Amino acid sequence: MRNKKGQHFLLSSESRTLSLKEIFKMSDKQAFETFKKFRWKDTDGIPVCPHCGLVDHHWLLASKQFRCKSCKKKFSVTSGTIFAHRKLPLQDYLGAIAIMTNGAKGYSMIQLSKDLNVQYKTAFVLAHKIREALMVHRDESQMNGKIEIDATYIGGKIKPENHKDDRIDRRLVENKNGKERVIISIRQRSNHRRKGALRTLTFMAKTENQVDVRAIVERFISRQSVIHADESNAYDLLHAKYRVKRVNHSLNYVDLKTNTSINQAESYFSRLKRAYYGQHHHFGINYLAYYANEMAYREDFRKVDNKSICYDILFKALNSPVSPELCGYWQGNHRK
Ligand SMILES: [Zn+2]
Repeated sequence: MRNKKGQHFLLSSESRTLSLKEIFKMSDKQAFETFKKFRWKDTDGIPVCPHCGLVDHHWLLASKQFRCKSCKKKFSVTSGTIFAHRKLPLQDYLGAIAIMTNGAKGYSMIQLSKDLNVQYKTAFVLAHKIREALMVHRDESQMNGKIEIDATYIGGKIKPENHKDDRIDRRLVENKNGKERVIISIRQRSNHRRKGALRTLTFMAKTENQVDVRAIVERFISRQSVIHADESNAYDLLHAKYRVKRVNHSLNYVDLKTNTSINQAESYFSRLKRAYYGQHHHFGINYLAYYANEMAYREDFRKVDNKSICYDILFKALNSPVSPELCGYWQGNHRK
């Protein structure tokens, strides 16, 4: 069965929910077989040696590792993937995916650490590995059709001083702390009215500016598209090469005369802000692009059942390479 988004992991008779109860009741063998199925999906779960590429059943060792029948090297179901060097049982990784999937407005890592009964740093790395897998696999093909573009500022909040006289104008550039960033989102609308957006791409920049906007649009939006944008001058240059419709938010949110709005882009930002205020309270700049993409994934998959999403994420995680960013993160092996 293949649905619109291309997930095709479920048979029509199968339940659409993957509950935590079901995951944590899985025997080690069942979890192992599930991981094999999604790691080596093209070969229907038959292991492929990551060293020499031989497809075979290979020798299964007592440690649940395989020994290649050709090159004799050992590998596991997570070797060479983002879950390599894992310490937890497989059920915990699938559990983490399901817990994060069910948090419609994101899921904080402190909560995840409590749910899984692991240290905060373990949950932090695990959640970021899942976000990284979503980023590695995001569809960056060009959008075509009606595209909405907008931007929102995130982070860099400065706490106001207690006394009124000590307070500064936090809107001025010289009073900012340099931690503020902007997320630019482009969303392709469905051709059907009321069906919302089909696909979302998000980008991080320092400001909502013409240079970055033009670079993003020229790379990710086809020339035949119609772009909807607000009155910000960041979008002015686009008129040279694209058909651009503008809506002036000081007058209305939907310009009924020209049928222009960026409500889909706003809807995505609303979800991103809810995750920011309600779950995480802070997005580290190094990971902001990943959080933004995670929320874009949630928006785009909003109509897909949770079981298909869990398996989609598991597939992506098991088909993403070892993360140089997160490997040994807590040993100090990360970008400053
Ligand atoms: Zn081999």
